[in-house]
Amino acid sequence: MSRLLLVSNRLPVTVKAEKEHVSVVRSAGGLATGLSGPHERSGGLWIGWPGDVSRLSSPQRAEVESQLAALRCVPLYLSPSEVARFYEGYSNRVLWPLCHYLLDRMPRHHRDWDAYAKANERFAELVARHYQPGDTIWVHDYQLMLVPGLLRERLPEARIGYFHHIPFPSSEIFQTLPHREKLLRGLLGADVVGFHTPGYAYHFSSALLRVLGLETDMDHVTHEGRIVRLGSFPMGIDAESFERLAHDPGVLGEVSVIQERSDGQRLLLGIDRLDYTKGIPRRLLAVQRLLEREPAWRGRLRLVQVAVPSRTQVEDYAAYRDKVDELVGRINGQYGTVHNVPVHYLYRSFNERQLVGLYRAADVMLVTPIRDGMNLVAKEFCAARPDEDGVLILSEFAGAATELRDAVIVNPYDIDGMADAIEHALEMPVEERRRRMRALRAQVKSRDVHWWVSHFLDTLQSVPQRSTKP
Ligand code: UDP
Repeated sequence: MSRLLLVSNRLPVTVKAEKEHVSVVRSAGGLATGLSGPHERSGGLWIGWPGDVSRLSSPQRAEVESQLAALRCVPLYLSPSEVARFYEGYSNRVLWPLCHYLLDRMPRHHRDWDAYAKANERFAELVARHYQPGDTIWVHDYQLMLVPGLLRERLPEARIGYFHHIPFPSSEIFQTLPHREKLLRGLLGADVVGFHTPGYAYHFSSALLRVLGLETDMDHVTHEGRIVRLGSFPMGIDAESFERLAHDPGVLGEVSVIQERSDGQRLLLGIDRLDYTKGIPRRLLAVQRLLEREPAWRGRLRLVQVAVPSRTQVEDYAAYRDKVDELVGRINGQYGTVHNVPVHYLYRSFNERQLVGLYRAADVMLVTPIRDGMNLVAKEFCAARPDEDGVLILSEFAGAATELRDAVIVNPYDIDGMADAIEHALEMPVEERRRRMRALRAQVKSRDVHWWVSHFLDTLQSVPQRSTKP
């Protein structure tokens, strides 16, 4: 196995500082779990930003570096201005809304492009410095779209993969971006460009044709004498770990407590980052619509909505939070009683154990983003249901809908349709719930995060190694 150099904006670690003591803790996320095996087995490196360490003293920084080195992580420090312009500015204010089809959320001026391009240069420079002949480089996500091209200039022989974790929009949308050409050329520096769904790969091919005049041949395109493969590699989760937690006695105890305290009310569940792509307001409106038109459900259901604080420095997120707060207040004001409220809103994050308790206790899981690259919560819900019960309501605009066809698929723009789907889910006979959940679980378990990593890396390894010698 060749040495793997992983490159992502954020390292899979959290730096914790308490007084003089600092420690580096590995993050538990699915990507980190899936990649940790190949990263360690190959003796590779993970290159990225460790988060804000500007308040640390020099000895503390040295301690962080030594702990990072023990985890085979190489830090790239971003300055506060780089965080504001490269990360929050261009990545999260321009590319994020663009890829989620939300053109009106894009700023009128793309002043942060230069900072984006410069930060991408810094990443490429650092990767090139650590590269050894024979290494495989895997670059992750939209913050680093120029990196494959910048690496190709420096390392013409290297094996380079890129995975896009968010949607790739229709070429009509992508074309609106002033820097569209540079970004596409950046991606073409890779040997394999991967997406979550065949639809995103198709959109990328059409963008290549319309912006650069490049024709895709089935699953590859020839660019500057090189073959670049495009493909769909739907990301999975660590299904085994969610299933294990779902059998844990402590978690099951929590499930019983949630169910007892529900006092006969049916439980709807939403788990999202508080992001404007997640469709929380429309979901709330669908619950409101159901209560409005079917008085029999009043007092008999409640929605537990977890909203994890996210990107709080970006204004659009603050405005979105206000909107959600207001809607929750309005619905609870209208349909609450002195005993209970229809929406139980939690603005905070939970750990995996707590999430599995909620997943297992829910009657209906609502995953209704207006656009989402994949949505792992949908898959985690299925993995956490070894009892083969619970209904998944899933937006057709989540990447996960391409695979999870046995969910109840909804259009999140159709509030009435979503209210119908919630009612249908609440009344679904047990045999149908089991049949659907069995099929969903089989899918989620067979295509887990380990399958995803090997599928991508096998494709990348199958690319013939180039030589610059004539
Ligand atoms: N998550 C978490 N704590 C929470 C809510 C969510 O750890 O309180 C995790 C969840 O388990 C999932 C991830 O955050 O793995 C969200 O991934 P998803 O693909 O659904 O959405 P994203 O936030 O990446 O857009």
